Order: sequence, then C-alpha cells, then structure tokens
Amino acid sequence: MTHITKECGTHAGHQRHTNRGEIPCQLCADANKEYHKARNTDAKELKRLKAEDRLIAQMYVMERLAIARKREREKYATQVQESA
Ligand SMILES: [Zn+2]
Repeated sequence: MTHITKECGTHAGHQRHTNRGEIPCQLCADANKEYHKARNTDAKELKRLKAEDRLIAQMYVMERLAIARKREREKYATQVQESA
C-alpha cells in the first residue's frame, strides 16, 4: 500500500516510498523523473563547462606559443641584422 505523505511530490518522498518497499505514488514518480532530468542537465552543463575550460586552456597555450614564436622571430631578425 502506498502512503501519501506531506513529502509526496518530492525526490525525498520518492526515496521514502522505495525505502519502505512501496511503489511510489504518481506525484513522487513525477518528482523523481524531474529530479533525474535536472541532474542529467547539470551533468551535461558541467561537461560543457569543462570542455570550455579546456578550450580556454588550449587557447592560452597557443597564445603563449605564438608570443614565444614572435619573440624567436624578432630575436632571429635582430641577429640577422647584427651579422649583416
Ligand atoms: Zn508519494
């Protein structure tokens, strides 16, 4: 028998049903679905953020490389001028 409590319609309510070995009521089943949907969205968002972080890190490295190459070129150009 499924007991409807004041927690019904929440993820906690759903857990309460399952902990008691009950079949969750519709309110709790819906809440549980929403909860997992939200969690999935969070996980995706986190993954996307991590991908962005990686991209920024790569851009930063590339920028530093570009600066280093530019300095190398400038150094080389100065050396060529000096030896000429
Ligand atoms: Zn319930």
